[in-house]
Amino acid sequence: MLSDSANLYRCEFFNKAIEGAHNNLENAFSLFKSIFSDTANKDLSFGFPDTAFYLPFINALFNKEIKSVSQLPEIIEIAKSFIKEEQNLESALDAGVSSLIASEVIEALSYEDFSQHSDGWQGFIPDSVYRALGFALVDGRIPGIAVIMGAVPESKIAVSLIRELQSKNILSLLVGESKGVTFKSQLEKENVSLGLDSYIVPLGASSTSLIYAVNLISRIAVSFGGVEKAKLNNLLRYIKERVMAFVLCFGELDALKVSLVCGMMKLGLPVLTDQEISYAKECQNLLDNLLLVEKDYSKIVSKAIVQRGIKIKIDKIDIPVNYSAAFEGERIRKEQMQIEFGAGKLVSFELLRQKDIEEIKDGVIELIGPDIDQLEEAKAHPLAIIVEIAGKKMQLDFEPVLERQIHRFLNYAQGVFHLGQRDSNWIRISKEAFAKGLRLKDFGKILYAKFHNEYPALVDKVAVFIYTDEEKIKLLLPQARQIYQKRDERINLLSDENVDEFYSCLLCTSFAPNHVCVISPERTGLCGAVSWLDAKAAYEVMPTGGNKPIERGTCIDPKKGEWEGINKFVYEHSNKTIERLCLYSLLDSPMSACGCFECIVAVIPEANGVMVVNREYNGMTPIGMKFTTLAGTVGGGRQTPGFMGVAKRYITSKRFISAEGGIKRIVWMPKDLKEEIKENFLKRAQEIGIPDLLDKIADETICTEIEPLLEFLNNVKHPALTLEALL
Ligand code: SF4
Ligand code: ZN
Repeated sequence: MLSDSANLYRCEFFNKAIEGAHNNLENAFSLFKSIFSDTANKDLSFGFPDTAFYLPFINALFNKEIKSVSQLPEIIEIAKSFIKEEQNLESALDAGVSSLIASEVIEALSYEDFSQHSDGWQGFIPDSVYRALGFALVDGRIPGIAVIMGAVPESKIAVSLIRELQSKNILSLLVGESKGVTFKSQLEKENVSLGLDSYIVPLGASSTSLIYAVNLISRIAVSFGGVEKAKLNNLLRYIKERVMAFVLCFGELDALKVSLVCGMMKLGLPVLTDQEISYAKECQNLLDNLLLVEKDYSKIVSKAIVQRGIKIKIDKIDIPVNYSAAFEGERIRKEQMQIEFGAGKLVSFELLRQKDIEEIKDGVIELIGPDIDQLEEAKAHPLAIIVEIAGKKMQLDFEPVLERQIHRFLNYAQGVFHLGQRDSNWIRISKEAFAKGLRLKDFGKILYAKFHNEYPALVDKVAVFIYTDEEKIKLLLPQARQIYQKRDERINLLSDENVDEFYSCLLCTSFAPNHVCVISPERTGLCGAVSWLDAKAAYEVMPTGGNKPIERGTCIDPKKGEWEGINKFVYEHSNKTIERLCLYSLLDSPMSACGCFECIVAVIPEANGVMVVNREYNGMTPIGMKFTTLAGTVGGGRQTPGFMGVAKRYITSKRFISAEGGIKRIVWMPKDLKEEIKENFLKRAQEIGIPDLLDKIADETICTEIEPLLEFLNNVKHPALTLEALL
């Protein structure tokens, strides 16, 4: 009789895992050697773009910051030590970790000069994106992640799988190929929109690009989960307990794939495959719960969800199409369109109004005018959507905050596309959705359900009126425009002086524990996502959440924007690390930065001014640092006088570093950023009496070094040169 170990020895699956890990590691080593022998520079730096985590998986495993090729031999040696020759489950799973490490090395070496891939594959997921995803995973907007490896036999199957995942808001990450076909190409063939907005991110066509899913997960564990680096068991425990991910592995399993899925199993993530696996009975028992075979594609997703214990919260709305956040980014092309509204040709507007409780009958949904089956196909038509809201805590100020949600709520319906806002919206309905029976009253059902579901604290009653009758729309439009205008006037009047309270935002403390954003009407949160009104509304909705009012108290310095109450609040909430905060100053106790800032402001002493650089710009700046390098020094919840993370919107605020002279100090900004904020910038420049200021600001097409910058500033007579000395 054969002993147990002899039985296991024959398990082809374990064999393959170890073989695959060996080969992958060898590939990593030869790639390294080919690059290393090729370069005279033994310290050649390499790595992924836009991250402060270096090679994040390796960093989480060993607390090692790999930035130069010369560090690789050591890492490859460590990875080798994970491969043991015994053929048992433990060795196979450990070999899997080794194969993942090798993959991270291989993929990182494939990045030239830290720039992003540009071939339709995402590759490495940058820090800004992983943070947004981390939030969504933590608060449940995304209940789980499906890593899809390989391809299915037909593209139609790929579509039905992805629709099922989307309808549950699960994020799909696509990796690898099978027999030369990728899941990505299968979806493209069926015109499925890809991208983060659609919850479908193609990572890479090679199996090793699986590491991009793994290093996303490990960053979430380290930052959101506070897992200490180099503590393998803690990392495994966090991922197993908190990261709701699973792997769907389609098509033949070669040795490399087997080694990689073993790595995923080691992380505690179940793997489901459509392939028969030949292994000994004992080995099958061992793999129970980790590796599941399911050949029925209509069952595999739900099986994975149950296996991983993912809780799905579904918006139950009685409409004939799928409804989920995953459809938000869906595009509807002209050929696919049944009908459109607005489209820049005809009037189409949306308006949300506050009413008194007695004025509204909850649940009223009225269509005034013909429905889409009576309107001419493939044409644009006029439309008006009027939502009436009543609630004890509702305020006039929240009208625009809630109105902006109409965009999101309608977009979640499969086959509905919504763009723009107010009287410049544009709505398309697809032929497919129309054929399934979608009609305009369904818009009402959606808005009714979503306003109640998402804003129960503000909203007690909702009524929706949808107009397609052109005459009536023409009558309503001037009233709507008057309301928009009144709101704008109100917002313009909203200034730091005429409110009593500012708001805090503490959302980022999960990864920058000492960071507090202080949000005032004239200074938006540095991520650009939370304005004073948003924070105020969020507080009303959830008083125990991350946004709280802060009493300003006595003013200590009006020029620098320092108040007693703010100082006290920040001190308490920064774990007593920040004693003072000057809201309008860059040099004296500036706001700390967590890491999500849209832009960085940095002093250029030679120019007596500052530069502003945005996250999207990956070129060089005059202070000799790229955005990523700068971000590494500025982030982490520290105050760094002379440097500050800010939102784009703040640049054109009256309070933008007003203690140091405001926008007059800006001497350099990337061209795209200039373009993006142009309209508001020109207004501000006009107000301060230098209408051509934007032209006096250099960008990368003019220079990226100090000498030529100074020359340019002198030539254009930049105002910063005559301001009082900055330092
Ligand atoms: Fe809130 Fe500031 Fe983080 Fe934005 S950056 S989520 S405003 S704490
Ligand atoms: Zn942040």
